[in-house]
Amino acid sequence: MNLAGMSIAAILGKPPLAPLEARILLCHALQLSRVQLITRSEQTLDDGQANLLAALFQRRIDGEPIAYITGEREFYGLSLRVNRDVLIPRPETELLVELASERLPPDGSVLDLGTGSGAIAVALAHSRPDARVTAVDVSEAALTVARDNAIRHDAAIRFMRSDWYAALPGQQFDMIVANPPYIVAGDMHLSQGDLRFEPVDALTDHADGLSALRAIANGAPGHLAAGGWLLMEHGYDQAPAVRGLLEARGFHQVQSWRDLAGIERASGGRK
Ligand code: GLN
Repeated sequence: MNLAGMSIAAILGKPPLAPLEARILLCHALQLSRVQLITRSEQTLDDGQANLLAALFQRRIDGEPIAYITGEREFYGLSLRVNRDVLIPRPETELLVELASERLPPDGSVLDLGTGSGAIAVALAHSRPDARVTAVDVSEAALTVARDNAIRHDAAIRFMRSDWYAALPGQQFDMIVANPPYIVAGDMHLSQGDLRFEPVDALTDHADGLSALRAIANGAPGHLAAGGWLLMEHGYDQAPAVRGLLEARGFHQVQSWRDLAGIERASGGRK
């Protein structure tokens, strides 16, 4: 793809990928805002810009998610840094932040298990500045991204490396939230689209899809204060099974909530 000497308008007139994606990558390559892309549309690309943009277009054509190419994704109104060490934050996960934000008691403590990019922890700290947030992940590489996102948004979060509750013996919280890997081993989506580029251990438990949700539910009573909520995101067809896990562990007010697509996407209960 040779884009040298072409104007922004010419490239956008015949983009090699979806127009919106082409605009995002143009902004990123030329360090221009959306508005500048329009006001400077007659500007032509020099060789360096043309080569850079062609390389970005090619990565997208090869299937890489836009968020990994630009290194950022917006979540809950916050721009978050992402790379291939972490899952790309999904809009449906904003539901979990909202549920948690509404239910956390004043000055309450909350534990985010498997924080990844830190999306949930940072968004929660942002919407509830009184919250005392602890976020853990088993991946040191993910924690590096999460710490960076907390600094970006001035969120005072305590980060720890931990395999679920393993590094938290005896510690109790007013709330536990998690968006754990819940895709069933061998699900065809794992080998399609954006998911091919994401960390597989953040997507699937390599088992029935419920093993991480089960481990979190099983350990929660030992790490929750009385009345504390456990809130978990899960797959589109897992709500009845997750409610069953919570009921089996003696949780009260067990219920599920729908995302904007109308799918039961999160379930929870109170100790
Ligand atoms: N929601 C993601 C997807 O289906 C999965 C995220 C997860 O496993 N926690 O693409």
